[in-house]
Amino acid sequence: MKKIAIIVHGGAGPDSPFIRTHIKGYREGLKNSVEAAYLILRENGKAVDAVEAAIKVLENNTLFNAGRGSAINAKGEIEMDACIMDGASKKSGAVSIIKNVKNPISVAKAVMLNTNYKYLGAHGALDFAKKINMELEPDSYFIAEHQFDEYTKIKMEAFDSNGELAEEEINQRMHGTVGAVALDQEGNIAAGTSTGGAPYCKEGRISDSSMIGIGTYANNQTCAVSCTGDGEYLMEGVIAHSISSVMAYKNRGVAAACKEVIKIENKGVQGDMGVIAIDSKGNIAIEFNCDRMHRAWKKGNEKTVTKIYKD
Ligand code: ASP
Repeated sequence: MKKIAIIVHGGAGPDSPFIRTHIKGYREGLKNSVEAAYLILRENGKAVDAVEAAIKVLENNTLFNAGRGSAINAKGEIEMDACIMDGASKKSGAVSIIKNVKNPISVAKAVMLNTNYKYLGAHGALDFAKKINMELEPDSYFIAEHQFDEYTKIKMEAFDSNGELAEEEINQRMHGTVGAVALDQEGNIAAGTSTGGAPYCKEGRISDSSMIGIGTYANNQTCAVSCTGDGEYLMEGVIAHSISSVMAYKNRGVAAACKEVIKIENKGVQGDMGVIAIDSKGNIAIEFNCDRMHRAWKKGNEKTVTKIYKD
């Protein structure tokens, strides 16, 4: 069998008692995600399909902030964002502020494959999803108990004297996202990211995850990247494309490029940042600047590895 590899993440950021008590569930979820993608890659499936499969597993798992279990915004609603990119063609598809769609990553893939556009938002994205018969769910399906608790906690406690969300509270929020990068037997790579966004964010806020070149990027000549962390900082640093550029223009390998962008270029940044990346030779890289990053990977016939904290 030619080289194949898959890496997934389930968000990076501060640790929390909730995470500590659900470590087993998180590890299982990450492993199931890797294995769904691996089955596709082993059967000579495409990297882009493996990425979609990995992300769907995480979107369907309430522990992760994407699809079911998404963060609840300040209006008490769930709005989701997703993006997928194929490193061979450099085609991509994205959706943002989408509601009621069970798997936003599949709508993003359909935007990539079946439209002349790259990015659909809000009602237009939902109309498109309905037209192509994507699976829909009622609002109640998406709301997980721990996200409701988080929403209630912020609503009750986190306002400063101006009625705004206090800054230190923003940085402690249990944010999250899911993502995957894969290499298939043809030597093609792909990346995808899906999120429920930041807890208690303003209605209409769009996360970095769905932004091509920021939360998600793939190019066979360099790498496929999926990011997680504080979206506004990831946007400032144009993180995914910066990693690709460091590889292209500074002739660095994928691991060195991730390190340079996260640990050197963005060293002073106050926000959380985490990335997973792969190149078309099967080299993989994971870098993060915070307490934990939920992550798992499998290369060729090697065993699946799952990790949450630094080691
Ligand atoms: N990047 C996501 C956002 O800002 C959150 C995360 O990855 O934790 O919406």
